[in-house]
Amino acid sequence: MALIVQKFGGSSVADAESIKRVAKRIVDTRRAGHDVVVAVSAMGDTTDELLDLAAQVAPIPAPRELDLLLSSGERISMALLAMAIHSMGYEARSFTGSQAGMITTADHGAARIVDVTPVRLREALDEGAIVIVAGFQGVNPDKNDITTLGRGGSDTTAVALAAALGADVCEIYSDVDGIFTADPRVIPRARKLDTVTAEEMLELAANGAKVLYIRAVEYARRHGVLIHARSTFTANEGTYVLGEGMADPRQSSKESAMADVIGMEEPVVTGVAIDQSQAKITVVGVPDVPGSAAAIFSLVNKTGANIDMIVQNVQSAQPGRTDISFTLPKQSAVEVLKVLTAEQETIGYDSIVHDDQIGKLSVVGAGMRTHSGVSLTLFEALSTAGVNIEMISTSEIRISVVLRGDELNQAARAVHTAYGLDSEIEATVYAGTGR
Ligand code: ASP
Ligand code: MG
Repeated sequence: MALIVQKFGGSSVADAESIKRVAKRIVDTRRAGHDVVVAVSAMGDTTDELLDLAAQVAPIPAPRELDLLLSSGERISMALLAMAIHSMGYEARSFTGSQAGMITTADHGAARIVDVTPVRLREALDEGAIVIVAGFQGVNPDKNDITTLGRGGSDTTAVALAAALGADVCEIYSDVDGIFTADPRVIPRARKLDTVTAEEMLELAANGAKVLYIRAVEYARRHGVLIHARSTFTANEGTYVLGEGMADPRQSSKESAMADVIGMEEPVVTGVAIDQSQAKITVVGVPDVPGSAAAIFSLVNKTGANIDMIVQNVQSAQPGRTDISFTLPKQSAVEVLKVLTAEQETIGYDSIVHDDQIGKLSVVGAGMRTHSGVSLTLFEALSTAGVNIEMISTSEIRISVVLRGDELNQAARAVHTAYGLDSEIEATVYAGTGR
């Protein structure tokens, strides 16, 4: 008997029929003899609808009230799910994040989990009940106020519950079969991965892959939680996200011993991620003297914008001047442009260019550490596809390039093929958004 945490996203519980299907899935796990704790998201697009509603009554909704409002979405699905399980003859109890002991910081809308005290969950499990917990929410103990964890926070709820309860596995259900070498909606020949390392998953998530939320993967890695990302619609195994020192749970020791003997080579590149959420700002004709970059980025820093890539060129046309380009989330660009424009004279640059039509393509793979020529394959594939590269950045296990946004999908397909990642069959996409 194991303790299994299961997380179901909004598209898995979008209506009464889906809730019943999920209830059956949970009951099946229970019937197999396991203890089950479930984290559930709000039904379908409920969170977006609640946000729209809030915006209609207040231009800037009070953060405390907004969190109360948003947290109600998950309360609806948790209660309905518990009822559905009940009617199948099984004991189920639902709990809000606060009741489940999800203790967070006070940052409304982006609270961080600081402790999990699942006393009531343990009691319920000991009494043989299936436990349902509202995802995405917690409580700040200072004022006893309800908080939410930020969009997609139910993944984090599930992982945090798994860590606190010492669960054997945290199963994250969505409408895709697992984690793919690329988004199967963009690249139909994307291949499902059996395993991915937490380190690779973090890079993929940070660079646009939407199947798992980055904070959940971080939490899992820090607390040694085994994640199994799989589909609500099939019983197939999905993808295991392996933290440091975790063995592949599907492989018998015999098989893995064989693999060691044969020295099976892991592919160098594990996946391709794309991201269209960023913009590029270029500060043109910056004095090429010590302190210019510091002046620019200390201003940028004050806005709280999250800077990704930075490139500085020496401008040959104008001696003593340089261009500095950087990328940042599209929604941060307006504020950054404002502060930089206000200080144009003090910094002494010529002009500023804002470009929100860029796309970022990243290839990720732990195998890059030990292989050379990985970037050459990328550059050649893009060259053959006639795609121009505007910026390049690398980490130990990732290479990212900035391209024109409207060429991103085509570029991703070419790169996916170039690294030999294409599968023979098209991936099945069941519904919705992958969440
Ligand atoms: N319902 C929340 C959202 O849509 C949390 C989640 O789905 O994980 O962001
Ligand atoms: Mg949702």
